[in-house]
Amino acid sequence: MAKETQCGECPGLCCRYVALPIETPEDKEDYDDIRWYLCHEDITVFVEEDDWYINIKNKCRHLSDEGYRCEIYDKRPKICRGYRHKDCDFVEGEYDYELHFTDDKQMEEYIKIKFDNNVIEKPKKGKLQKSKKNQSRVRSISGPGGSRNKDKTAAKG
Ligand code: SF4
Ligand code: SF4
Repeated sequence: MAKETQCGECPGLCCRYVALPIETPEDKEDYDDIRWYLCHEDITVFVEEDDWYINIKNKCRHLSDEGYRCEIYDKRPKICRGYRHKDCDFVEGEYDYELHFTDDKQMEEYIKIKFDNNVIEKPKKGKLQKSKKNQSRVRSISGPGGSRNKDKTAAKG
């Protein structure tokens, strides 16, 4: 019941983007390539647990405009089936990104500081164990959709 309420109040946040891992930038040219991604509208780049991702804001063509239901629920991709809404985008809200770039100007500044000011970064101590929040984010990266639609379908009977 609570799950139905939760998804019923949400405009389908998990079906409105695609996030994909990208190579970790190493030199100034790599960072400039990412700046190019960020020149485009509806593209952001974030870092989580030392891994870099590009986030493309783009609604799934199968999310209905009315009621925000999956129109291909019975044959939705596996990635959508694996999504858990226990700690999804709607519940968790903002994530604790290590870095989050929302436009090219931010990256331009970052490049200036990192390369032109000779900033020396602290060596990393090794990966931390994934937090619950991070685990949920990885799931959402790899598979938006799913549970909300399951609940709604169940509700429809
Ligand atoms: S599972 Fe998706 S639709 Fe349901 S509440 Fe979470 S983000 Fe919204
Ligand atoms: S569950 Fe998957 S296929 Fe269905 S609307 Fe969401 S992202 Fe699209």
